[in-house]
Amino acid sequence: MIRFHDTMAREKRVFEPADPKRVTLYVCGPTVYNRAHIGNARPAVVFDVLASLLRHTYGEDEVVYARNVTDVDDKIIEAARDEGVEPSAITRRYEDFYLADMGALGVRPPDVAPKATEHVGEMFAMIASLVELGHAYEADGHVLFDVVSDPAYGALGRRDREAMIAGARVEVASYKKDPADFVLWKPSPEGVIGWDSPWGRGRPGWHIECSAMIERHLGTTIDIHGGGLDLIFPHHENEIAQSRCAHAGAPLARYWLHNGFLSMAGSEKMSKSLGNVVTVGELLEQGHSGETLRFALLSAHYRQPLEWSAQLVSQAKATLDRLYRTVGGAEAGEADAGVLDALSDDLNTPLALSRLSAIHDPGTLKASAALLGLLQGSSDVWFQGKGDDRIEERIMARAQAKQERNFAEADRIRADLALEGILLEDTPTGTTWRRA
Ligand SMILES: [Zn+2]
Repeated sequence: MIRFHDTMAREKRVFEPADPKRVTLYVCGPTVYNRAHIGNARPAVVFDVLASLLRHTYGEDEVVYARNVTDVDDKIIEAARDEGVEPSAITRRYEDFYLADMGALGVRPPDVAPKATEHVGEMFAMIASLVELGHAYEADGHVLFDVVSDPAYGALGRRDREAMIAGARVEVASYKKDPADFVLWKPSPEGVIGWDSPWGRGRPGWHIECSAMIERHLGTTIDIHGGGLDLIFPHHENEIAQSRCAHAGAPLARYWLHNGFLSMAGSEKMSKSLGNVVTVGELLEQGHSGETLRFALLSAHYRQPLEWSAQLVSQAKATLDRLYRTVGGAEAGEADAGVLDALSDDLNTPLALSRLSAIHDPGTLKASAALLGLLQGSSDVWFQGKGDDRIEERIMARAQAKQERNFAEADRIRADLALEGILLEDTPTGTTWRRA
């Protein structure tokens, strides 16, 4: 029996998928305009463990996990302008980095990774139906969601109206009917990325992409929607309102899971605006293995805050050293029931990790750790590390492809290596590589 704490219900509930043959999970993914910091990696790792538990329980092919890529956004437009390049140059570069960084942390790519720019048509359709149903209106080149038209608005965060207006930091623009109304579509001036739409040339607001992509890839009502605590309001509240109003009241998700913040020891929540950020790339460059970072991220319960420190990382490394000595070169056997029980109880990873330390049979340890995405490498590599001629060969093949102007092949090689956590950098003197 699996139980999750459901943010909407404010309590732990037994998890029952609507269709055990197709369990659907959606997690809000990255906005790709810079390198991921270790706090950004927390939801990727937490929901990777959740997906692995669901696959173990319902079957490898019975789970559909979607995590979107936000590749149109004001921050992306700003970064592109600063560098004098197209937004797509920024988003391609940082999506590669994101996949490489998460790959280094042992995060398996989701089954579907939809991009906002490839779903503008789906967004048009949903916005048009919201307008038609009287839940959205056009004003001054914008299309806005009419919050007052949705009596259930605010159920997830349970905030009062004043707090919602203040919390959303919404601009009180003269064209809004209500200050809490949020943007579905906004105009793009000349020279800024945009699409021709029934409401003029423009681009989508942030929230509508998730509603449109969930509908397209997973359906009207999904089993689990996940993300960081900071997304509850306004992002998830707005996703819920858009989808429910477009779908005759059908709920967007049956269970809502949110992970807590990560902070630097002695500091507040890790965020770029506070300047207390350490990226996954920096930690890997310092010589920490991705597996050590993954262990450290799972050492606190996902709903609790996690304080990141050098001590946390060195403890994770010491525990993994011990576990790798136990597991040696064993083949996986049967997973330990205690580890499975811990994960099934609202993804209690600290309890599951402590259970691992109590397992003495190498085969059981390997199978149990697999549920957490740990101890799957060879213990020889863990203790010695190794070089790689194969990577140099791939780099040569990519240079050859570029020379032949076969850029699709060159990009494919780069992306394949990125999935293994190998980052390529083109310099005036040639291509270098490093582990993400
Ligand atoms: Zn979202």
